[in-house]
Amino acid sequence: MSENDKVLCSFCGRDKQDTNILIAGTSAHICDSCIEQAHEIVKEDASDEVFLAKDFTLLKPKEIKTHLDDFVIGQDDAKKVMSVAVYNHYKRILQPDTTDEDIEIEKSNIIMVGRTGTGKTLIARSIAKLLKVPFCIADATVLTEAGYVGEDVESILTRLLQAADYDVEQAKRGIVFIDEIDKVARKSDNPSITRDVSGEGVQQAMLKLLEGTIVNVPPQGGRKHPDQKMIALDTKDILFISGGAFDGVERHISARMNTSSIGFKSENKEVIEKDNLLQYISPQDLKSFGLIPELIGRMPVVTHLNPLDRAALKLILTEPKNALTKQYQKLFDMDGIALSFDKKAIDIIVDKAMEFKLGARGLRSICEAIMLDAMFEFPSDESKKDLKITAAYIKTQLTKLSFTKLKVA
Ligand code: ADP
Repeated sequence: MSENDKVLCSFCGRDKQDTNILIAGTSAHICDSCIEQAHEIVKEDASDEVFLAKDFTLLKPKEIKTHLDDFVIGQDDAKKVMSVAVYNHYKRILQPDTTDEDIEIEKSNIIMVGRTGTGKTLIARSIAKLLKVPFCIADATVLTEAGYVGEDVESILTRLLQAADYDVEQAKRGIVFIDEIDKVARKSDNPSITRDVSGEGVQQAMLKLLEGTIVNVPPQGGRKHPDQKMIALDTKDILFISGGAFDGVERHISARMNTSSIGFKSENKEVIEKDNLLQYISPQDLKSFGLIPELIGRMPVVTHLNPLDRAALKLILTEPKNALTKQYQKLFDMDGIALSFDKKAIDIIVDKAMEFKLGARGLRSICEAIMLDAMFEFPSDESKKDLKITAAYIKTQLTKLSFTKLKVA
């Protein structure tokens, strides 16, 4: 047998005699040890692919909602809608590629409509924290069409990358909260908007981002660093949640509901709660408000948050895991001071917050104002080991303050 006739493994070059088995292909051979090695490589590669699924625990909608209940008071509808939308979104990402190609699960970006300080950001943030995915907040009012002064829509993704410590894989499955989406409504349909943020142009620019596209993101943000190397980020698995107060949208809801009930008056037994029309919000109302249909189409899940009443504000102050009163107690406790609030004190704080109409946001500024003196003095005074916040204490603190200062806080 000549050298040329020798049968060798085409991968490692081993002679047939030195292998346990040598398998012949059409124009090559492979030995058993190369098969083993190749198998290992394939296995490793495959496990890389399911990496996302492995370190990511997708909770069921009910579990997500239960977690939200610990942090967010009330807003049951919104919490339920969000839990389902988020669950479906991540199920869509985690679905194996081999599933029926005809059925493609579409993205479920979300719009939350509700007054300021009712928990929109809190819900989005709590979900991201629970699922341990990167989260960022972008303000729609600073966005402009590319080429105009302001931030390009890509800047949203810079924030997300930063939140993910520049880990692109993490950023790809993150959650972006776009605040004040109502402010990019078309002006002609909404006379209350006074600032020009080139509304429709921004909406147009957001379309691709929401749907899924590969964006070259400047890692340090836009214009200041023109030489930076761009990072390519695919947005198809990023969940976009947008929120807005949509001031005045009630007008459109009521107009729509009046027209749609014409002719059905006698059968239409549903009682419409006139003072909380937001609960009936539909994509059509968002269109009448000035969002373009294409944008609404890319955020198919619409939910609302209720205005917070006295009872809700009271609970927010005392009940959630990180309730404001608990936060102050912790702060004081770190200095060895026992802080307590009596019932009447809580009532006064809530009354003031109702007066300022800033939702739960008002609670924070009022508490800061009330607690300021104590937070300044107590840590330096060894003799002070407890502080009871009473109605009288609050009244004294409030009279020291100018009300205008509180209102803009
Ligand atoms: P917005 O609706 O304007 O996004 P946020 O979610 O930012 O309001 O709420 C502002 C603050 O008020 C939050 O940090 C949170 O402490 C509190 N808050 C608002 N709504 C609720 C709620 N429903 N339950 C508990 N806390 C709330």
